[in-house]
Parts: sequence; structure tokens; C-alpha cells
Amino acid sequence: MTLKLYNSLIGKKESFKPKSENEVKIYGCGPTVYDVPHIGNFRTFTFYDLINRVLKMNGFSTTTAVNITDIDDKIINRIIEEKSSLKEITSRYEKSFHEISRTLNIFPNDYNPKATDFVEKMIEFIQRLINEGFAYESNNSVYFIVEKDLNYERFVDLKFEDSDYLKINKNQDKRFVGDFALWKSWSKNDGDIFWDSPWGKGRPAWHTECAVMIEDLFDGEIDIHCGGIDLKFPHHENECAQIESLSGKKIANYWLHAEHLNIDDEKMSKSSGNFVSVNTMIKENGPSAVRLFLLSAHYRTKVSFNLKKLDESKKMIEKITRFSNNFDLLTIDNVEMKFSAEHLAFINALNDDLNTAEALGIFFSFIAKMNKKITSSSLNESEKEKSLIFLKLFNSIFDVIDFDRSKKQKPPKNVQDLLFSRQEARNNKDWKKSDILRDKLKSMGWYVEDTATGQKLLEKK
Ligand code: AMP
Ligand code: ZN
Repeated sequence: MTLKLYNSLIGKKESFKPKSENEVKIYGCGPTVYDVPHIGNFRTFTFYDLINRVLKMNGFSTTTAVNITDIDDKIINRIIEEKSSLKEITSRYEKSFHEISRTLNIFPNDYNPKATDFVEKMIEFIQRLINEGFAYESNNSVYFIVEKDLNYERFVDLKFEDSDYLKINKNQDKRFVGDFALWKSWSKNDGDIFWDSPWGKGRPAWHTECAVMIEDLFDGEIDIHCGGIDLKFPHHENECAQIESLSGKKIANYWLHAEHLNIDDEKMSKSSGNFVSVNTMIKENGPSAVRLFLLSAHYRTKVSFNLKKLDESKKMIEKITRFSNNFDLLTIDNVEMKFSAEHLAFINALNDDLNTAEALGIFFSFIAKMNKKITSSSLNESEKEKSLIFLKLFNSIFDVIDFDRSKKQKPPKNVQDLLFSRQEARNNKDWKKSDILRDKLKSMGWYVEDTATGQKLLEKK
């Protein structure tokens, strides 16, 4: 079994081989924390989780980092709009990023570095770029000289020599049109958001934030760098330009980019306001349907958002749950993972550039085949075992079934009834009733959490 990944650097699939034998280092560009995340953002973050899980399935151990962009123009605009502070805005949306990640069963990252914690290091890094002749100061800002990076155009063919990139930038701080900012000088709009630097008051620019975090956490060398497709150019090109100009080494051998989730044929984005909040979708459809929806298309295909697709995902979850109810899930932890042809086909689909759409198809054909046998009462022991193995394998990637649920002691009947009524209320989108029932359960000593695998009940200790 070889894992093949589509590498944006070379524009084709290739076999994956990490720099060190077994340990894979992964960095993904994380959220800019100035608004509630939309479902498109979480398509990308769920894709990071998918890469991580497929690597683990292949026996690799992983170290993952997804950064938090907590310095940015859009954050400053939000602070002005709300007459608020940087800390207030960014901690609010950082918290919601983590909460939603947990609800969608996204594995926690080893690192979630925040730009504000790295400003000193960014200043040192920019100074090194100036000292080495890759950058210059102008009017209290600092710019990178794109022409100095001999490998510029890694991700796109700009026709560099003929393009506007090298034209002199008249009447502006930048010398050439293509030069990009590393440090932005303070302006009145920035209010009290600034750091002191050798070039005066100001703040780091976005491309430098990610470059410095990779440099600091991983010594500037990782195996896989991932992000949404919009980040390929210029963000990722500019990350490479900075780090690789200094080190002479490639940041990453593999660059993976997820296509966008669109709405009405346009990219869903926080800045254009055409977005659907992921929290609303979770509330209305349940986290497992949202997670399955996000994983059901291959990551390199554009997906158009619509509610019908979420309904389909809900139906798929019901199908899987009904199927899994035929088995004793209490034993699933002890199942020996002996793979037969169907399991291997599922694994091969995922190893073929993370083809979740094909893998799902294989899993559902298996369910259909087994369901026929269940209906005719002819499912034999070996098929039962195969089914348990497949459920466990499927859930190690898609993670939408709660095996633990069946292991827990049942709560008292009146609590179960309330939980059932709350599920009904949620199915009918009666959020008011759902909230009332949650409060009632709380007063009786039971907390309810809505997770990717349905309602979870926790007894107050
Ligand atoms: P942002 O919070 O805008 O910095 O974006 C965080 C991550 O979400 C980045 O990796 C983006 O590429 C990704 N992203 C933004 N919009 C979309 C979208 N409509 N579909 C998929 N991913 C997106
Ligand atoms: Zn980045």
C-alpha cells in the first residue's frame, strides 16, 4: 500500500515519502480570528484532519501545527467597528474555532501557534532578511524583493520576466510592483495595535507570520504544508520566498491545497459576507452530518453548498447507525484488524490522494451487501467479523459513529425520555424546546453536549 498525494508543487500525484523514516511534520494555515468560522473554512480544517488520519492509518506518527492568525487588517477593522480590543475579538473567535473543531471530532493539533506570541521572532527574522539583502525598509515598512528569489513562481506561471511584477512602483513605498510587505508601519487606523521595532511602530504582515512559526516550531522544514486553494499564490509562494531564500532548503516537499466550498457559484468568504456559519449548520443538522458532508467530496473538487446535500448526509448517518446496531459494538476495541478485499479497496481509495468519495462508495456497497444478508438472516460469523472490522476502519477516518455510547451505563428512564424528546425537537428544528430540555436535564444533574456523533450525556459529579 503506497500513499499517493497530489503535490501542487509539481502539479501531479506522487508517492509520499517523509524526510525521516516514520515521523511526518504537517503545517496548515489556520483561521484569521475576526468572525465566526464558516462551513467553507471547516471544509479546509476537516481536510487537514483527514490528511492526519490517513497518515496514521498508514502507520506514520505525525506532528501537526495549525496557526491562529490574530494580527490582520480585518481584525483591526472589526475592533474599530465593535469599539473593542484585539484580545477580546481574537480570543472570542479563537475559542469558537477550538470548540467547533472538537465538536466535529477534529483531532487536536500538537501546536496552535498564535502570531502575537511570535512578534519578537518575526522582527529578528525580518532583520535577517534585510541583512542578507532580500528585503529593504521604506517609510517605516519593510518589503521583500521578489526578484531576489530565484525560484519565485513555484506555484504559478506568472511569466515573471514579462509581468508587471518587476515594474518600478511609482510614487509608493514599494520599489517594485511584486514586492510584498514583511512589516507594516503603524497608521492612525491601527490605534493601540502596534509593536516597537527597529523600523518604528508597526506590525508584522501575514506572509511573515506563517514563515516564522514554521521556522520556529520546525526549524523551517516540514513534510506537508496544506491550505485552501486561495492560499497557493501569493501566500504560500511568499512563505517559500522568505524561508528558502535564507536557508537554501525547501520548506516542504509536499504542498496540498483544498478546493473551495462555494455558494451560488462564488467562493464562500467571511469578508464578502456570503457565508453560512458552521455553528448554525451543526445546530440544524447535527455535527456528524456536517462532518460527513465536509468529507464526502474529494478535497480537490469544488463543492457547491446546499441544504439538500446536508440532508443526504443525515440519511447516510442513519444508514450507518442502523447497520452498526446489528453488531455488538462493545467488542469493537478488541477486533483484530485483519483486512480482506473490501477493506483494502477502501484503504486504497484513501491512499489514492485521499479519495473520500470513492472510499465512501465502497463502504456503502459493503453495507448494502451485508444488509441483504441480515434481512435474509444469512449473515455468517466471518461476515460479522468483517463488518466490525469495516466499521472500525471507517470510523478511524470518518469518525461519525459513537461506539462508546453502547458501552456506557444507561441513564434512568426519565432522563432517557427527555433526551429522546430533545432529539425529536432538534429533528424538527425546534431549538427553543431543545434548549429548554437541555436546561431541564441540567437541573436533574445531566449535561448534554451536541457532538459529531449526536447528543452526549454527562453526569454532573
Ligand atoms: P481565513 O480564516 O480566511 O484565514 O481562512 C482559513 C482557512 O480556510 C484557509 O486555509 C482558507 O484557504 C480556507 N478557506 C477560506 N474560504 C474557504 C472556502 N470557501 N472553502 C474552503 N476553504 C476556505
Ligand atoms: Zn499561512
